[in-house]
Amino acid sequence: MQELWGRKVLKKEINDNKSIIADSQKLPTMDMLNEKEIQCLRCGQIQRKVLVQLSNGYYFCPECIQLGRVDTSQEFYHLPEPTPIQRTVHFAWKGALTQGQQAVSDELLASVKKGESRMIWAVTGAGKTEMLFKTIHYCLECGYRVGVASPRVDVCLELFPRIQAVFPDEPAILLHGKMDEGYRYTKLLICTTHQLLRFFQAFDVLIIDEVDAFPFVDNPLLQYAVKKAIKNKSSLIYLTATPTETSTKRNRQNNVQISILPARYHRRALPVPKTKWCHHWREKIKKGRSPKQLVAKIRTLMNKNDVLIFCPSIALMEQLKNAIEKKFPKVPLACVHSQDSERLEKVLGMRNKEYRILITSTILERGVTFDGVSVIVLGANHPVFATSALVQIAGRVDRRMDYTAGEVWFLHDGCTRAMREAIKQIKKMNRLGRERGLIDEM
Ligand SMILES: [Zn+2]
Repeated sequence: MQELWGRKVLKKEINDNKSIIADSQKLPTMDMLNEKEIQCLRCGQIQRKVLVQLSNGYYFCPECIQLGRVDTSQEFYHLPEPTPIQRTVHFAWKGALTQGQQAVSDELLASVKKGESRMIWAVTGAGKTEMLFKTIHYCLECGYRVGVASPRVDVCLELFPRIQAVFPDEPAILLHGKMDEGYRYTKLLICTTHQLLRFFQAFDVLIIDEVDAFPFVDNPLLQYAVKKAIKNKSSLIYLTATPTETSTKRNRQNNVQISILPARYHRRALPVPKTKWCHHWREKIKKGRSPKQLVAKIRTLMNKNDVLIFCPSIALMEQLKNAIEKKFPKVPLACVHSQDSERLEKVLGMRNKEYRILITSTILERGVTFDGVSVIVLGANHPVFATSALVQIAGRVDRRMDYTAGEVWFLHDGCTRAMREAIKQIKKMNRLGRERGLIDEM
């Protein structure tokens, strides 16, 4: 029975289907909107019937097919969530919040108590997760069901053990596309945003981390999933370090309150990116040469820190690596990108100081922390470097307690709006942090 509470799944997705199916509610999989169109009730996307008809006459949805095909011959099975019952939940967190974190944590709890939604805009390296603990604890004690979702699997993998450690006696489950463990009912759940497509009026509180990250940002399918996964009376909590214009606008329209945490837990200002002209960087790399501004910058930065070089395309990365190797023959370096099978090993290698230079695509723009690094964005004027990407990349520097004088450099041959916006946003946060007394001057 419990297996179907708050779920909306196909027969083939149910573990123990015989006993459950008889008692469950059956819901349609698709809605015939009109003569020509049909809407999938798992992902909400509308299809033209002629394009999605199967040879047996049924219709299917191509949009959410990665979760298993939904078609009009099937039904969804569902059971409503039970009424929440007050209980005691062991809370094992012994850490302390900074003044800034505490303020946000209090605002968040107040919102949840009122059943309101809230957006938390906390700078990179602010310590977002700790601010959630008290609210999660409150919710679990109320008997609520709480979900923490992120568009990125690696974020979920990192969050799960941290949250589990705070609530050691609370059953919790981690759900993502590549997991082997079967589904079971828990009040506390960490999952990728795609997994929300399998829930229906399940959560009293749903926290979505990295709302500005791919694939969640501006994705109607996942936004539909969120809307369906929460109860009618519930709180949605969004976390971000780099809100997009659309999300800010949407929040304003929906009256979502915003908490801003403009400073990191170590009370130092965010490093402000500096820009440097680098003439024809693309052409030079294509010819197998390394731009002299880049070489000079690597040399100075390496006196104090290791160097992460962000490169706009995989094709350029290999050429860049060869060119840099020629200039720095004795320096251990590597390059890493999304299709790299040794991606995890290389990231670990950089963490363990096996390399002094790591050339990377935007895959390392968020979710990773290295000790003692400076960052160069080569070709910061390339369109892949949107404002949010640049802010996140700059946020890789100076995340640890110990200060290492890490720097952020945008090398470019034509300043873009995204570059200017990123610098402006970082400066604005520093200004806010100073005004609120959350930053110590060095
Ligand atoms: Zn669908």
